[in-house]
Amino acid sequence: MTTPLYGQMMDVPLTVSSLLAHASRHFGTTEIVSKRIEGDVHRYTYRDCERRAKQLAQALMALGVEAGDRIGTLAWNGYRHLETYYGTTGFGAVCHTINPRLFPDQIAYIVNHADDRYVLFDITFAALVDVLAPQCPNVRGWIAMTDEAHMPRMSTAASSYEALLAQHDGAFDWPELDERCASNLCYTSGTTGNPKGALYSHRSTVLHAFGASLPDAMGLSARDSVLPVVPMFHVNAWGIPHAAPLTGAKLVFPGKDLDGKSLYELMEAERVTYSAGVPTVWLGLLNHLREAGVKFSTLQRTVIGGSACPPAMLKMFQEVYGVEVIHAWGMTEMSPLGTLAKLTWEQSQRSPDEQRKLREKQGHVMYGVDMKIVGDDGRDLPWDGVAFGDLHVRGPWVIDRYFRSDASPLVDGWFPTGDVATIDKDSFLNITDRSKDVIKSGGEWISSIDVENVAIAHPAVAEAACIACSHPKWTERPLLVVVKRPDADLTRDDMLAFYEGKVAKWWIPDDVVFVDELPHTATGKLQKLKLRERFRDHVLPSALDIENCPFDEKEGHALRHVKTDLS
Ligand code: ADP
Repeated sequence: MTTPLYGQMMDVPLTVSSLLAHASRHFGTTEIVSKRIEGDVHRYTYRDCERRAKQLAQALMALGVEAGDRIGTLAWNGYRHLETYYGTTGFGAVCHTINPRLFPDQIAYIVNHADDRYVLFDITFAALVDVLAPQCPNVRGWIAMTDEAHMPRMSTAASSYEALLAQHDGAFDWPELDERCASNLCYTSGTTGNPKGALYSHRSTVLHAFGASLPDAMGLSARDSVLPVVPMFHVNAWGIPHAAPLTGAKLVFPGKDLDGKSLYELMEAERVTYSAGVPTVWLGLLNHLREAGVKFSTLQRTVIGGSACPPAMLKMFQEVYGVEVIHAWGMTEMSPLGTLAKLTWEQSQRSPDEQRKLREKQGHVMYGVDMKIVGDDGRDLPWDGVAFGDLHVRGPWVIDRYFRSDASPLVDGWFPTGDVATIDKDSFLNITDRSKDVIKSGGEWISSIDVENVAIAHPAVAEAACIACSHPKWTERPLLVVVKRPDADLTRDDMLAFYEGKVAKWWIPDDVVFVDELPHTATGKLQKLKLRERFRDHVLPSALDIENCPFDEKEGHALRHVKTDLS
């Protein structure tokens, strides 16, 4: 065997600290603005941020924290949380962001499973920490992210973040680390079973930040003022705290005030051009705009993901407020970005209607992720926009195995996402369901997302969920659960009539029920498992009259033939 000829370029490791070091050195005066839990607005620069992140690193090392140790956070989006992202990973510790909206028992499970050495928390979570501390005996200390003057009264012995930082000067060089070492840890929200940890490396985090910054991905830029509404405790705020320093974008953190009015006012005050969040948050913002009769004066683009962006929301942002919506798909196991719905030059020459349809999908993969859809037999399905199957992915920022688990989740080297999707001839992904939420009617699949999107387009509907309901003839049929807008008038028959001509007849729900609110997970997704339990005994009118089922059997089976013929 001949010796390989190696490239002769510098072997500089891709470390998370290099992102902040870059911003501090080259965008040193660019601002980071935070609405603080203490009530005021805090402003400083990337240069200040790096100095304080180094002070935190010195403080943690003085407390005995070593490379590889996990440091938990229970915090909103703010400058101290950003300092923790870098003050931990910078010397080789692991930044473990925890979702404070989970049940305390689940949080305690996560803290113990991660074996967190210290947990840093915003003072809003003082009472929560008092509940957690007795259940987490291995945590050596709890650190309140505030100064001595604002320390909350607690039963747990906690120290002050500012007091710890004040003992150090920040005169310290980030060490060179092996880029394959762990940097960040995030747990999935665990809608089924216990939460599972995705342990990112320095290399995967930096590559993801590079990918996310590309113009046809999130497209962050030094020209942007970026307000991440997506929490820093939810998959690293989709990588924005890493991509913003990489690109030199200004950062604006909303703290705990995520209602429409607070977000709008902060966006206007800080001349925000770019934002990102899940659809539920945008519902609140759009409602505020409508009620207050105001418009954005600077916002240009927003990423919407985490669950499907309803077409009605996309339309409202674009047509009424002139804001470009970038629909994105990803998951904790993918750091999280996978696909984004940005059009190519050729696609943007097509009719407005065709362009709209593409933007409603989850889009094209970014370099760094490969995807495929497979049928029950594991064979690849065609990219025709019709055949749907299990979505598998792979790439350098996709999980290889879960933290502290020996079993590999991979199938032939690919990660099965648990999503069901189509891919069309434009290579655009369209998520039709989580595999466990898909409705199997007479052996055929109905996309609950598509059925919900039609309902949400009705002016009297605030929110809707479509779930499977058992049926004696078809095994399952769709049941639509609707929350009406306040004071809106809407009957079951109105709702069903609205479906005419919008979806195949056999996709129209068999029944509609109205509720006051829908259950959500800690990350704002519809909790369909809970809904299915609640309506387990619901009797569909069609189940009582099997002979006159409201849809045609032949039409129902048409799709199966298409799928089989093409696969
Ligand atoms: P969890 O911890 O609840 O799994 P994730 O944020 O990792 O939280 O959720 C990932 C899942 O969210 C995806 O597998 C997919 O089902 C759903 N999802 C994310 N973005 C979208 C989107 N744009 N459209 C539809 N579903 C989405």
